[in-house]
Amino acid sequence: MNEKMDTLAKKFIKKQIENNKERYTVRLWYKKWAFYVNGNKLANVNKNAIYEYLYGVETLQYWENHHDEPMNLPSNSVDWEPARIALNRLSIGLRRFFWKFSSGHIGNRHMLCHRNEIETPECLLCDHHEERSSHVLQCKNVKTRLHCENLVKTKLATILEEQKTEPNLQRAIIRIICKVRRGDNINPNDYLRDHGLRDAIREQEENLKWYHFMMGRWSPKWRTVQERYLTSIKSKRSSLRWCTAIIHKLMLIVWDIWQYRNQLVFADDGQLQVEERNRINILINQEFIIGGEHLLEEDQFLFEDFDLDSLLRSDAETKKNWIARMNAARHAIDLPEEAQPTEEETGMTQLTFDHFGWTDT
Ligand SMILES: [Zn+2]
Repeated sequence: MNEKMDTLAKKFIKKQIENNKERYTVRLWYKKWAFYVNGNKLANVNKNAIYEYLYGVETLQYWENHHDEPMNLPSNSVDWEPARIALNRLSIGLRRFFWKFSSGHIGNRHMLCHRNEIETPECLLCDHHEERSSHVLQCKNVKTRLHCENLVKTKLATILEEQKTEPNLQRAIIRIICKVRRGDNINPNDYLRDHGLRDAIREQEENLKWYHFMMGRWSPKWRTVQERYLTSIKSKRSSLRWCTAIIHKLMLIVWDIWQYRNQLVFADDGQLQVEERNRINILINQEFIIGGEHLLEEDQFLFEDFDLDSLLRSDAETKKNWIARMNAARHAIDLPEEAQPTEEETGMTQLTFDHFGWTDT
């Protein structure tokens, strides 16, 4: 059967050539489509691949200039592979955080000001005029600096040790991050040349910068240092795995730093919540001191159904509602007899509690 079909097909083609007819491939009904993007044949519709072909170069170029600290090298000179694997190792929530933080689209003061949510982008923890993502990693606030140094000297040091990092490389990474955090300059000549360590430091210092190092955008030379060391000790460990493990840890440290920053920035709000709670409790106490003797018959339940102790122990919402209802009850007895509101209306009188106290709405 196959042979017969083959013969027929060949005969058909021969005849077509003899008659000088144009030949083209017929796309059969169930045959998959193949299409070309910028001259590259794609056999299936893979949105990542299409995006890369269409916008890959432009995206890289865009991010060369849109970081807080621009790189002096094109983005494709970054060792992206370990950064990609490390990012994928994070939970989806942390990955989202990292995308937002690293692109600057996170609730830092610069972005909040840009969105007109606050009036000034100033850092709340030091006197810096603008708090962008990069500043969060270099804030002059002494608490944040100590917090970061602790993380580096414990968590990062542990992983560097576990991953059998070349000893000089290990010391250099910790020393450099702490120096950068303090705002000190890095001089590559202070470090040894062994296994190309000084070259790696120089490239990061001059071209990729240390902010990018923290974000996992490393020079490929770091991997080379570890690679050479592993070869020298005849280890079969992979330098890519080493790189990925360290970058993964750095990403977690960045997350930790951001969390700590939030804790400090929102500490005032925490205090406000305490103050608000105290204020509500004082108001309730005052109402019980005044008592309900003069209240209208229909409002007497406010003292009959609630007692002071249980009310003080109840949740904020209940307390706020009780005070709002009590204000309405007090208001009702001040009204002239004929204009007395119905129960429905008194219930509608709402008071809101904001930072300025209770106000009618
Ligand atoms: Zn700051």
